[in-house]
Amino acid sequence: MIPRTESGVHAISWQKELANAITNVEQLLAATKNDAAAVQQHICTPAQFPIRVPFPYIKRIVPGDINDPLLRQVLSYREETLTTPGYLHDPLQETNSNVKPGIIHKYKGRVLLVLGSTCAINCRYCFRRHFPYQNNQNSTLQWTQALDYIRRDSSISEVIYSGGDPLVNSDKKLASVTQQISEIDHVKRLRIHTRMPVVIPQRVTDELLGWLTETNLKVSMVLHINHANELDTEVAEALAKLSMNNVILLNQSVLLQGVNNHADALVTLSESLFDHGIIPYYLHLMDKVQHTAHYDTPLQSAHILEQELLARLPGYLVPKLVFEEPAKNSKTPLTTIT
Ligand SMILES: *Cc1c(COP(=O)(O)O)cnc(C)c1O
Ligand code: SF4
Repeated sequence: MIPRTESGVHAISWQKELANAITNVEQLLAATKNDAAAVQQHICTPAQFPIRVPFPYIKRIVPGDINDPLLRQVLSYREETLTTPGYLHDPLQETNSNVKPGIIHKYKGRVLLVLGSTCAINCRYCFRRHFPYQNNQNSTLQWTQALDYIRRDSSISEVIYSGGDPLVNSDKKLASVTQQISEIDHVKRLRIHTRMPVVIPQRVTDELLGWLTETNLKVSMVLHINHANELDTEVAEALAKLSMNNVILLNQSVLLQGVNNHADALVTLSESLFDHGIIPYYLHLMDKVQHTAHYDTPLQSAHILEQELLARLPGYLVPKLVFEEPAKNSKTPLTTIT
């Protein structure tokens, strides 16, 4: 028998959806009804950082539209093969803040736990595409050391699950990790940075809601949604379950050329996020990561966009336009560098 969700939609487990994800350009073009021959000269087969797109996400790509803003986030363009001066492999020097395997401690009061090295989806603009995940594998020994690190620094009040995507891990593992962290007195808040509930909404399982509600930590989730079309009814249901279970929902987007770098797209995104119970948090300027320059937006255009958003939206729906610099004590608001 085919399992059904309450809404009657056929439900495949999130693990199956992960395993079934499309992993090459030809399949991606075929699944989105695009003619491979017609776009041949604009695309490439990635030499590293493979294609990965699960079907629940593919469903939201408009068939036959090679400029679809969701497709553009996951399709490998010829420009990826170019080397652009000024773009680096680790522009944020995260490997310097990688204080212990599995931990990035850059900002005061909050540490980032690298839980897992894979994602449900491979976004071509990803700033961690070159991160040395093989040195951050969360073996039991590393995990013990990471916990000790958090225990010893009483200034840490927030732990951030990151990755990769932390929600590719099993709920059993996440529940156990969360339990151990919640036993540390000075840690008050848990934040989860994930694209999973949007990419594969079935990921919001009863087990997930179970450990999220059982913990005494205050939980927030920062979703990574770049375009309003990423929100469909199944995603809406998954997000509603999180909201109903007292998870504060925030969103961060990346300003991406050809995806969302115009005011109409960003206004619609903010309004749609709010309709789904999500507050816009950050709009990131692209990090200068090698092989991603074709998604970048000039600073001047970013400024103009921000002014337009301020003029068209209530203040709480305008995300903070920021970028990241090495060795700073916070993300840098664009307004400080006029
Ligand atoms: C972005 C980021 C955080 C969180 O910063 P907030 O401003 O609190 O959202 C923490 N650690 C690292 C390494 C980060 O890049
Ligand atoms: S989900 Fe985030 S970390 Fe994973 S590939 Fe996309 S941008 Fe990178």
